[in-house]
Amino acid sequence: MIQIHGGVMLASESPRVLSKWQNRHLLDAKKEASQSKDTSTKIGAVVVRSDNTVAGKGYNGLARGVNDEHIHDREFKYGAVIHAESNCMDSVRDPTLQDYTLFVWGLCSCGSCTARAINRGISHIICVQEKERPDWEVSFSYARTQAIESGITFEVFNLNEIDPRLKNIAFPDFSVPFLEW
Ligand SMILES: [Zn+2]
Repeated sequence: MIQIHGGVMLASESPRVLSKWQNRHLLDAKKEASQSKDTSTKIGAVVVRSDNTVAGKGYNGLARGVNDEHIHDREFKYGAVIHAESNCMDSVRDPTLQDYTLFVWGLCSCGSCTARAINRGISHIICVQEKERPDWEVSFSYARTQAIESGITFEVFNLNEIDPRLKNIAFPDFSVPFLEW
């Protein structure tokens, strides 16, 4: 578990139980992730106001109108895909995201999305990382550095650190063609 509170890195052994609302928002983010057309990496994000109302949602994918089939072309995907966190923040109609919380299901927020979240005013990021991704570790370390220096709260949980009910619940896989409508 990675815990950065107000820019201070806490000992990873510190127990941390997510609240009912936080679990609910993570569940929402997991549901968003299931909508991604990317069969190898499904990430979902939800951004929430301080009164726990949802301001925006998103998942990793290509820009509007772009053929989803390009997601299966690795080169194209890496050059064009919009991360869940960015799609989520872009979907918000509120004039500012000041003191909002960003929930991410699937991976730790990357360095670039974390930078955008900080600049939009988000003060708390909570991520659930489903599996180890050594290829993203450098980017994750940039996210942590920025969280510490900007003073935001940044938490990353693995699947064994969250409520088992949240871990086990499954949503339909929207990347399977017969489930599309
Ligand atoms: Zn990102």
